[in-house]
Amino acid sequence: MNLFNYREGELFCEDLPISQIAETAGTPFYLYSKNTLLRHYGRFESSLAGIEHLICFAFKANSSLAILKVLADAGSGADVVSGGELFRALRVGIPPRKVVFNGNAKTEKELRTALDCDVLMFNIDSESELNLLSRVAREMGRTARVALRVNPDIDPRTHPYISTGLKENKFGIAIENAVEFYKQAADMPNIEVVGIHKHIGSQIVELSPFVESLERVIGLVAELNQLGLGLRFVDMGGGIGITYDNEEPPSFEEYVSAVRPLIRNSGCTLIVEPGRVIVGNAGVLVTRVLHVKTTGSKKFVVVDAAMNDLIRPSIYGAFHRIIPVKYRDDAARTMVADVVGGICESADFFARGRELPELEPGELIAIMSAGAYGSTMSSNYNSRPLIAEVMVDGTQQKVIRRRQTFEEMVALESF
Ligand SMILES: *Cc1c(COP(=O)(O)O)cnc(C)c1O
Repeated sequence: MNLFNYREGELFCEDLPISQIAETAGTPFYLYSKNTLLRHYGRFESSLAGIEHLICFAFKANSSLAILKVLADAGSGADVVSGGELFRALRVGIPPRKVVFNGNAKTEKELRTALDCDVLMFNIDSESELNLLSRVAREMGRTARVALRVNPDIDPRTHPYISTGLKENKFGIAIENAVEFYKQAADMPNIEVVGIHKHIGSQIVELSPFVESLERVIGLVAELNQLGLGLRFVDMGGGIGITYDNEEPPSFEEYVSAVRPLIRNSGCTLIVEPGRVIVGNAGVLVTRVLHVKTTGSKKFVVVDAAMNDLIRPSIYGAFHRIIPVKYRDDAARTMVADVVGGICESADFFARGRELPELEPGELIAIMSAGAYGSTMSSNYNSRPLIAEVMVDGTQQKVIRRRQTFEEMVALESF
C-alpha cells in the first residue's frame, strides 16, 4: 500500500502532482510520502497489539533525519549499526532505551559511546567482540546488556548478498555453539545477558524462514532458561519483503500471527527490526529523461539519475518498476529499452530490456519502491553531488535534504 497514484494520467504523491514538485526541487530527487510511512509503521504496531514488543526501525534502510523523526514521533525505536546511526537516533530524540546496537564490526569508540548513553542492548556477533565490550564496560564502571546473535542456519531464499542466516554467512555464532557461548557470557564481568538476536536476511517473501528460524531460537531460549539465564528479549531482526514487481510477501498480520504463539511461550518481549517494509514503498526516485538513443538493435533511455544515486539494480540486479510521471495521449505506444544513467560503468542501469511507454527527452519518470537502501547507499561517484530529498504530507512538500553543492562536495578535501 502506498500513496503514489495516478490521477487523470498524472502521477501524484499524496495530493501533489510529482511534476509540480520537480519544478521546485529540480531532478533527480528522492520523494517520500509521509503518510505511507506512517501507515506502514502504524499497521505493524497495531498487528503487534497484545504482545510485549518494541519496533526498532533499521536505520540502514533510510536514515534521513526527517524520516527518522516521523518514526520516532510515532514511537519507534532504532536498530543502529554504527556510531553515525547512533548519533542520528539521539539527534531525532529516540530514547537510548529504545536503541539496539547491531553489527559485526563495532569499534571500541562506538562501544564506549553506546555504553555512555546506555542503549537498550548490544547484539553481539562474536566472542572477540564480547571480550572487548566486557573490558570497555569494566573500564567505564558500566554494565552492558547484551543479546547474542545466533545464526540459525535457515535459508531465507533471497538474494545471496542479503542472505545472512546461513552457516556460511559472516554473521553471528553457530546455533550449536550458542549454549556454550551463553554460559561463558553470563560469567563475564560487566556483562548482563538479556536477550537473543537473529536476522536471517532481507527481502524475504515467505513466512516459513521466519517461523523456522524463530522456532530454533525459541528452543534455545527454553534451554537457556533451564540453565537459569532468564532471557527477556527475543530480537527477530528485520527482513520482511516488499512488492517491487509481483512478489507477494506476508502481511504484517500474517507475520505476527505466525510468531505470536512462539513468542508468547517464551515469555520474552519481542523486538523487531524492520527497515525495507516500513520505508521501501514510501519513496520513489524521480528522474528526467535526457536522451533516447538506439545503437544497433538496442534502445537506451538515458536519465539524469545514476547508479551512485540508487545502486540496487547494479549490485543485486534488483527490479524497480519504472513509470512515467505523465501519461501522454499516445501512451499505448510502447518500446523496449534499457534505462541507464551517465556513469562510466556498464553496471550503471535501472532496468534492462524493459517495456516502457514511448519516452522522449525532457519527460519525467519515477523509479518506484526506492525508499529503502536508496538514499543511504548513494555516493559521490563520478563527482555527482548527493541529490535532494523531498517529503510530502498531504498537499505540503518539504525539502528534507537539499541537493549538495559542488563546494560542499569538495569541502573536506585539500591540496
Ligand atoms: C539489514 C538489517 C535489518 C533490516 O532489514 P530489512 O530487510 O530492511 O527489514 C534488521 N536487522 C539487522 C541486523 C540487519 O542487518
